Amino acid sequence: KYHHILAAYDGSEASVKALSHAVKIAENQQACRLSVAHVASRPAYTIASYGLVLPESYQEKWKEYEDALVQQATGQIEGLPYANVAVLKGHPATAILDYANDHACDLIVMGNRGLGALKEWMLGSVSHHVVQQARIPVLIVK
Ligand code: ATP
Ligand code: MG
Ligand code: MG
Repeated sequence: KYHHILAAYDGSEASVKALSHAVKIAENQQACRLSVAHVASRPAYTIASYGLVLPESYQEKWKEYEDALVQQATGQIEGLPYANVAVLKGHPATAILDYANDHACDLIVMGNRGLGALKEWMLGSVSHHVVQQARIPVLIVK
């Protein structure tokens, strides 16, 4: 039995599929927690570290985009009593692995590819890194 499943969600087609598998697995277990983690890639976070500031309107657009992502994910976990969406900051793979560690997750579910443009490899860099570093099972959905 799984106690706490972590689904990594970037809004990509594969991550939507991954989340629906995670929901299916969680639904079939007694009192299984499900966390959906989205690592925010808002450029404001990156650029702030260089001491630069983005125009307000640009930041607003990103906020709207990420709010919409969180809304979509929240829609997919409706009806699951022990589910939550977490918006994380940092390097996506590291943030996902740290969240899994800190919350004693026992399964990570994620897509094989994400929103990246280059598709020649089976795995994107985030799923590659997570599979390589995780100490718990990782279910890759494609
Ligand atoms: P790359 O990012 O290396 O250009 P890619 O975007 O095609 O390639 P990944 O980013 O590795 O591929 O995406 C694979 C899976 O990793 C996604 O389906 C999703 O489950 C997870 N993932 C990627 N980025 C994030 C993120 N920012 N937050 C949460 N999960 C993510
Ligand atoms: Mg990506
Ligand atoms: Mg990337």
